[in-house]
Amino acid sequence: MAAHAQPRAEPKLWYADGLRFACQACGCCCSGAPGYVWVDGEGIAAIASHLGLPAREFRRKYVRRLWRGLSLKEKPNYDCVLLDSGGRCVAYDVRPLQCRAWPFWPTNLVSRRAWEEAARRCPGIGKGPLYRLEQIEAMRAEMKM
Ligand code: SF4
Ligand code: SF4
Repeated sequence: MAAHAQPRAEPKLWYADGLRFACQACGCCCSGAPGYVWVDGEGIAAIASHLGLPAREFRRKYVRRLWRGLSLKEKPNYDCVLLDSGGRCVAYDVRPLQCRAWPFWPTNLVSRRAWEEAARRCPGIGKGPLYRLEQIEAMRAEMKM
């Protein structure tokens, strides 16, 4: 009699046991090479309110329209316009989703190698509290929207 084949187990997600992260406030991800920090109307309103500016004024001064949507402007040296001279985000508590979700971006989670690659640019990766799989997946999902 032929034996029934066992269903093949799903391969375990490489970060199923969680990942550690604690921002070291080095400012590296807010400066350096040109980039994009995408914002929507809700995000603009939150940051503007945090800075005590009318949303319209904030948008005129600090937001640019690009092919994919709205992004924060950059300084001439490509620092994010919200990075202060001490390397801190002036709107950290209400920073845009992509900043809040870092480093749990789909591109960094695609493989352990990609995560380690990101860790070379971000000294907070691998340090601090353990983020559980559900937390990681929630942030990854938000970034996919
Ligand atoms: S590169 Fe990493 S440690 Fe540095 S500010 Fe950005 S998130 Fe924090
Ligand atoms: S909004 Fe804040 S956290 Fe995001 S890139 Fe700019 S300075 Fe950095």
